[in-house]
Amino acid sequence: MTAQASESRELAAVIGLEVHVQLETETKIFCGCSTDVADAEPNTHTCPVCLGLPGALPVVNEGAVEAAVKVGKAIDADIPEETTFHRKNYYYPDLPKNFQITQYDSPICQDGELEFSVESERRSVDIRRAHLEEDPGSIKHVREGTGPLESRTCSIERADYTLIDYNRAGTPLMEIVTEPDFRAPGEVRSFLEKLEEVLEYLGVFDATRDGSLRIDANLSMVDADAVGEDGDIDESVLEDANRTEVKNISSHKGAEQALSFEASRQRKLIQSGRAVEQETRHFNETHGNTVSMRSKEEEKDYRYFREADLPPLRVSHWKDEVPIPELPDARRERFVAEYGLSEEAASKLTSTKQVADFFEDVAERFDADLAATWVADNLLGELNYRDMAITDIDDRFDEVTRLVEFVAEDEITAKNARETVLREMLDTGDDPDSVVDREGLGKTSGDEVQQAVVDAIDENPDAVEDYHNGEDGAINFLVGQVMQKTGGSADPGDVNGLLREELES
Ligand code: ADP
Ligand code: ZN
Ligand code: MG
Repeated sequence: MTAQASESRELAAVIGLEVHVQLETETKIFCGCSTDVADAEPNTHTCPVCLGLPGALPVVNEGAVEAAVKVGKAIDADIPEETTFHRKNYYYPDLPKNFQITQYDSPICQDGELEFSVESERRSVDIRRAHLEEDPGSIKHVREGTGPLESRTCSIERADYTLIDYNRAGTPLMEIVTEPDFRAPGEVRSFLEKLEEVLEYLGVFDATRDGSLRIDANLSMVDADAVGEDGDIDESVLEDANRTEVKNISSHKGAEQALSFEASRQRKLIQSGRAVEQETRHFNETHGNTVSMRSKEEEKDYRYFREADLPPLRVSHWKDEVPIPELPDARRERFVAEYGLSEEAASKLTSTKQVADFFEDVAERFDADLAATWVADNLLGELNYRDMAITDIDDRFDEVTRLVEFVAEDEITAKNARETVLREMLDTGDDPDSVVDREGLGKTSGDEVQQAVVDAIDENPDAVEDYHNGEDGAINFLVGQVMQKTGGSADPGDVNGLLREELES
């Protein structure tokens, strides 16, 4: 786009993403090395294949292909008859072969889409392709010094030396490329949240793994007039718009931040009559800004050619053979229909597969409303308050179920269950039975409550008189007395009823 200076020119942002996700497989994509490298010493999960030693031959990991097919089905993509691998050539120390095995003209997933919601509006973004490739190794630039290594890592410009770890080299990656269908940074964030949700449902992705999601975000500015009512933009306008590609984004929030920064940077340039350079920029998470890295490389720079060591892979029939679980949207709709839940509760309960599975377990044993309250409100609420996730307690579902049973069977009050037992369970790690015992929360028997009601009335003639004179506060005072006598274990609503019965008789 030629930069026409005009203060009043209305601009609109256009955004497209290239999202790299690490697929959860036991071994790397082209060799048998384990991908479980989180606590491993550097360069201990390597072999001739992932080190790119001469003569070593890659073999495709069936599990990685299966995971890619699952992703393809989830985004409603076409899976070609035959998919092929290519070499993308570039020279960098994290890439021992000096080329990356990736896919080029016949990627495993083509023409998909993903629906998501932004501020409760449904949106859909087209996914041009999603292909398999190998992750490079990881690099650390370090300054000389005496402190621990982690405190001496720095930018390449300030480094005295660089460390390379090939443990990550060969981890299966899927690069998911969207069409430039996003119109605002906030949409990108919602899309990424949904994408992660789907990938986790499929069981092919672990969001807690460091670096498991890396985003390159492309942004350009076009004349607002060029955007049609349905959000569509002419192909030629998109091609003419100078765009930047921001690299090194590793979170949803980071993507939104980087793109907001980039949109206002480009807007200022254009409005002051300057041109936007087509370039690759780097996102600095600490400063929330983007800085120029290099002019954008082009496809021809990579000299793509077929990977002769890997034969074409016939995959189209896998689509029928590889099952995928019910996905979040379908499950949410079913929860509304089957359990009569609100959209909001159903959304919360389907946000992760674990939560949804747990809810259905509880709903099978108890009432669906009780299950929804306990899982969506009480449990997720208390976890959230403690900055915990459902994965932190996934070995304690039986205990939470036991707690719901206490309430369902009317053995303790809902208030005590939520405010005392659940909280103590999370804070101390104790099981519900021990907390109930320790705190003496077992509901007092009916006889004991009745006795306490009679005693409270006998001991407080003034309050009784006030009650008969129509004073509202008197009954509350008496309820308080009974609660005290029963150690808080009676149900205040029941006590209120019992007192009125006794006083009116
Ligand atoms: P390249 O050949 O430079 O890699 P592609 O056409 O493959 O470009 O697109 C790469 C990414 O850039 C895709 O995610 C796409 O959605 C995005 N993109 C394409 N055109 C634009 C644009 N005008 N503004 C923002 N993003 C764009
Ligand atoms: Zn290996
Ligand atoms: Mg490209």
